[in-house]
Amino acid sequence: MFDLQTMRDQLAAHYDLAPNPELAEKMSAEYARMNRVVTPFDWARHAPYVDAILRLKKERNAVILAHNYMTPEIYHGVSDVVGDSLQLAMEATRVKADVIVQCGVHFMAETSKILSPEKTVLIPDVEAGCSLAESITAEGIAQMRAKYPGAPVVSYVNTTAEVKAASDICCTSSNAAQIVAALEEDTIIMTPDQYLAQNIAREVPQKNIVWWEGSCIVHEQYTPQDLRDFREWNPGTRLIAHPECPPDVVEEADFSGSTAGIIKYVTDEKPEKAMLITECSMASNIADSLPEVDFIGPCNMCPYMKKITLEKILWSLHTMSEEVVVDLEVAEKARVAVQRMLDLSKKLGI
Ligand code: SF4
Repeated sequence: MFDLQTMRDQLAAHYDLAPNPELAEKMSAEYARMNRVVTPFDWARHAPYVDAILRLKKERNAVILAHNYMTPEIYHGVSDVVGDSLQLAMEATRVKADVIVQCGVHFMAETSKILSPEKTVLIPDVEAGCSLAESITAEGIAQMRAKYPGAPVVSYVNTTAEVKAASDICCTSSNAAQIVAALEEDTIIMTPDQYLAQNIAREVPQKNIVWWEGSCIVHEQYTPQDLRDFREWNPGTRLIAHPECPPDVVEEADFSGSTAGIIKYVTDEKPEKAMLITECSMASNIADSLPEVDFIGPCNMCPYMKKITLEKILWSLHTMSEEVVVDLEVAEKARVAVQRMLDLSKKLGI
């Protein structure tokens, strides 16, 4: 557990972090990337942190990989690479820096460490978990294998290293349908997201997909009636759902895709009004690059993703903590499952 006061006292001793309108003005290029969604008053609060993080990043030869669900001041202010889980996993293998600061949840930092064992991987809050990753263990995978002998296990990247190590191949919401379709076996075990598995089962009807009963606490909150109510409240709005939503929600939407798929869809289609049925920060992060699209609520926040803040990123780089460590044997086995996914994605041109 973070001792916030100690952290703040120590940061204050090393950095001038008071709101600073002059510095905010000087950093207008950074602000221009988020000025539709961050007020100038908030930017004056964020600018000293952003400035300190950018300097420290150079000193430590660090890069910041940020998930699409980070808040705009992180996403636009300090990150080097942004993306969904697949994009961040692939980028972790390419970056030249000595240090990766993973702005996302713990399984993402573990994935970076698995793929880049020689690098120091930091997570700004070690308690940034995930309801999906916490829903299953290696013992759960063994139970599924016993129930469906011979069926390969496809685990979503939202799993711990231990679970990845017990799986045959990983997938993300960007590539799950293609990965499942490309496997030889007819029966496929998908873990841990029951809704992603059910949505993929509809996309790949030639396979018998069986699933674990995990779910994402953000996406499972949406109901088909919510979407019908949204449509009635604001007619003409394009409803775009993440495939971690239940299938009847996805069916009610106009489009479903991973966060990267959502960005591509909105960028290509440029609907006049769009509602993203996913985590709250997603719309804020893409609003500035798509001024012609009016993004309308809703706002379901992921409490795990929101544990990552500018203050904790600065602390992480200042103290070089929390370092993510994965047992070498587990990492080796998990790497095989993640690498199979990356190789197959490449082969399939995803
Ligand atoms: S949004 Fe859902 S799947 Fe993503 S980290 Fe949060 S709980 Fe996990």
